[in-house]
Amino acid sequence: MNLILLGAPGSGKGTQSANLEAQLGLTHISSGDLFRYNLNNDTALGQQVRKYLDAGELVPDDITVAMIEDRMQQPDVERGVMLDGFPRTIPQAEALDAMLARTGGGVSGVLHLDVPDDVLMTRLSGRLICKRCQTPFHKTFRPFKTCPVGECESGEYLYQRSDDQPEAVRTRLDAYYAQTQPLIDFYRARKLLATINGDDDVNTVSAAMLAAAKAFAADE
Ligand code: AMP
Repeated sequence: MNLILLGAPGSGKGTQSANLEAQLGLTHISSGDLFRYNLNNDTALGQQVRKYLDAGELVPDDITVAMIEDRMQQPDVERGVMLDGFPRTIPQAEALDAMLARTGGGVSGVLHLDVPDDVLMTRLSGRLICKRCQTPFHKTFRPFKTCPVGECESGEYLYQRSDDQPEAVRTRLDAYYAQTQPLIDFYRARKLLATINGDDDVNTVSAAMLAAAKAFAADE
């Protein structure tokens, strides 16, 4: 099974993916995490994409697709993937089809997390991420209590992403509406879309996502 998590920045894709990954046994691939890994390690790719991430703009399709193609060569992809943050444009979605077709697979379903714009702004501006395990927390709504993967004691690795500053947040949301939202119709037309209300408590959203994912699995 190959699932896509689709939703605006701050819609909860990162929060939900850890739970879904454990429940479904899929390999979680986050394009944003891969870019940030390259930035933090100052690789050639990191240097190439820094300006886009800092501004909150999308990285050009050719660079993004090449990075995901590379990741999709790893053996852990064989058990199925849960893509988080990719595809974000129609050309990326078409490139993904071609990638999956090479191994006889395809997109099994798309879980679309729907969250109102004002809620996204509030979530992103208070968001804190752990540098070690990438778990997202929130200053008010999800303060650090214990580390979910047992890596740290008191949240000492939490930081605010530079693209969670208000100006970059607005750019990222604009990019989502202009470039990523068309994917909703793209996948709906292929009967691969499940829209889930993401403006609810974490456990309710989790349960709805899991049910939708299982329905996609049953259809395969
Ligand atoms: P995210 O962690 O998913 O919010 O992604 C952080 C940033 O990485 C985005 O604002 C983009 O600059 C870049 N990025 C992540 N995924 C993609 C993608 N599929 N296409 C283009 N840029 C991306």
